[in-house]
Amino acid sequence: MLAEDLTALLGDSSRVLTAPAVVERLSKDFYWYSPVLRPALEGKRADVVVQPVSVQEVRDVLRYCYRHDVPVTARGAGTGNYGQAIPLCGGLVLDLSRMDRVAEITADGVAVCEPGVRLGVLETAAREQGWELRCYPSTIVKATVGGFLGGGSGGIGSVMHGGLRDFGTVRALEVVTMEEEPQVHLHEGEAVHEILHAWGTNGIITKIWLTLAPKVEWTQAAVAFDSFVEAFDFSERVACDAAWTKRLVTSFEWPIPQYFSPVKTICPEGKNMIFFMIATEQLGDFRLAAEKATGTVTYSGAYAGLKAQPLLSDYTWNHTTLWAIKHDEAYTYLQCGFDPARVREQMVLLRDRFGNEILFHMEFMKNGQGRVVPGAIPLVRFTTEERLSEMIRICRENGIFVANPHVNNVEDGGRYREDHVQLRAKRRYDPKGLLNPGKMPSFEPEGAELAGSR
Ligand SMILES: Cc1cc2nc3c(=O)[nH]c(=O)nc-3n(C[C@H](O)[C@H](O)[C@H](O)COP(=O)(O)OP(=O)(O)OC[C@H]3O[C@@H](n4cnc5c(N)ncnc54)[C@H](O)[C@@H]3O)c2cc1C
Repeated sequence: MLAEDLTALLGDSSRVLTAPAVVERLSKDFYWYSPVLRPALEGKRADVVVQPVSVQEVRDVLRYCYRHDVPVTARGAGTGNYGQAIPLCGGLVLDLSRMDRVAEITADGVAVCEPGVRLGVLETAAREQGWELRCYPSTIVKATVGGFLGGGSGGIGSVMHGGLRDFGTVRALEVVTMEEEPQVHLHEGEAVHEILHAWGTNGIITKIWLTLAPKVEWTQAAVAFDSFVEAFDFSERVACDAAWTKRLVTSFEWPIPQYFSPVKTICPEGKNMIFFMIATEQLGDFRLAAEKATGTVTYSGAYAGLKAQPLLSDYTWNHTTLWAIKHDEAYTYLQCGFDPARVREQMVLLRDRFGNEILFHMEFMKNGQGRVVPGAIPLVRFTTEERLSEMIRICRENGIFVANPHVNNVEDGGRYREDHVQLRAKRRYDPKGLLNPGKMPSFEPEGAELAGSR
């Protein structure tokens, strides 16, 4: 019934998907990174997947779903890590990947696009016009702009430009509400924070204005060190010194680099590595600085866009975890923010307490106050949920921020706004609580029974 109604609504059965294997695939994301979420979310799936191609179709589908109390879970490319795009109550997956038009890259460096545009496509289009993305996840090739705004936070480029939330990177967005008559609202400036990282619980993003950065000619480089202390010291120096123009500064302690099978030749046995993207014009000085810091440059090469081989960003941010899991399924991860003044002491404390159950993978990020701070996506050898909770507790007791990636709701994930703007927007835009239900538990719906609940 649901599928027939939606087909009639769209007038195109090819964009209403019901084949069980397809619905199953489009109901999943990378939740399986977490051994806690894996069993909890197994078997959760939508009843049907719909692929709108216009704002009008999004409105038509939401109007229908509101009337019939059908839950709606937005989906970009499904690369989120926390089960963000997995429907907990059945209903409909709204797959936005076909809304993939880049409307414009303005002369003053703003990309205007639809939500289903792949970040890689946008980066390539921007570079052709002298611009580039300020920051992007390591999933850039697959992930969509809408999914990044809905569920991501930052990544490559954040060491220079901060996260997605900072410095007006998301200039504006347009969002469709889940009401009897769905509305289109423009959120500009500070108002974008009502929708960012809300996991599609408070509106469907249909248009985005992203601030770009002037394009830089980049060189990728890998530098090896005998000890992780030396590697971290050098990575911190490059990351925090504004004189270096950089896009990526990722350090890995051994044995993490041994999991990067395609780039083994640039990761010598037993060495702690840093992967960089550094301005090509600074390469000479960079080499000298690396050697002075007792590093060995094992690779350097001009970055020729996302088809570059090797593409070092494929081993950084949360791709590091993927390579480790491929090697050994017992690995999982945490997302940490260290105190810049205590980071060395904090790392020693974790090593003393947990030994090699935690392996250091560090990423630097400029915070909202303009200070470059050490973050980390350490690998963790999973044994039990209790042990994982203990690690998180010890981190927090010692001043290490943890955005817990083993929870399936916005509030507990570490990026919920304390001023509750996302929750307040949900009350206005989704009064029945039909958008990605269960993912914002502090929200109380107006009393609608969810149809199609499983
Ligand atoms: C290997 C790997 C590496 C990663 N690295 C990074 C990283 O470096 N930085 C980072 O921030 N993240 C990272 N992630 C997480 C993820 O890739 C990013 O968050 C990515 O931007 C998600 O994009 P997507 O299109 O796949 O979104 P999806 O997974 O499809 O969706 C993410 C969330 O946004 C919602 N959503 C999707 N589209 C819309 C829309 N139009 N309107 C409203 N809500 C919407 C969904 O409901 C879901 O809650 C990584 C994940 C993996 C698996």
